[in-house]
Amino acid sequence: MGKLGIKAQKGLVEAYFRGQRRLLFLDYDGTLTPFAEKPRGARPDDELLSLLEALCRSQKNEVVIVSGRDRNTLDAWLGELGLGLVAEHGAWVRDKEGEWEVMEHLRTDWKEQIRPILDLYVERTPGSHVEEKEFSLVWHYREADPEEASVKALELKNVLSQVLTSPEVGVLEGSKIVEVKNMGINKGHAAWRWLGGDVWDFVLAMGDDLTDEDLFSALPKSGYSIKVGPSDSRARFRLASVEEARALLKELVSF
Ligand SMILES: [Mg+2]
Repeated sequence: MGKLGIKAQKGLVEAYFRGQRRLLFLDYDGTLTPFAEKPRGARPDDELLSLLEALCRSQKNEVVIVSGRDRNTLDAWLGELGLGLVAEHGAWVRDKEGEWEVMEHLRTDWKEQIRPILDLYVERTPGSHVEEKEFSLVWHYREADPEEASVKALELKNVLSQVLTSPEVGVLEGSKIVEVKNMGINKGHAAWRWLGGDVWDFVLAMGDDLTDEDLFSALPKSGYSIKVGPSDSRARFRLASVEEARALLKELVSF
């Protein structure tokens, strides 16, 4: 993987320009918008909204936001823009003019067992909280003392790995979160709804964390997968920050 330097970016922009059927998968948090102290603080700003609007305006583009967030938040923030939406890392999908559909029948009975454990960690870690989604539970510790919370996060992962015995349910680490979710879900699986449903001559995917790796893997060889941020990735290219990710999209909509 290399940095998306001037030459590679030129190639990408030219491929976009030539493309007649273009599919763009964009992760939301950490990719299009910086992490906020409170998850609700990351609502899209005007610059981002007009950027997404401009991308959707082209008849050649299909733009899909592929997020770990719940579907109500995505609807409220982005529901009017004419985007495809993927919520809860792929549990729910919505075509730009469709209704939400659940990807598959998933168990949720494990939540009753796991919720009290996470609640205990909230009690023991001031500033942390639990978010309950339909197919996952998330312990957020961005607002807690960083050192104390990262020790607790390790401890929590150990506890969870002992309690969770079903291969259907797994523990996932994200940016300042520990998430327990159904493992049948992943962003790559969800992306196939678009990848497999049509012929595309330009495909791009951008994302910043581990859950985006499944998305990168689902892309065709000719596709442009772009990791946003420093950690390891199987993406073809890398950009350093949300600012650079937005700058690339701005260049694309300038055509
Ligand atoms: Mg992200």
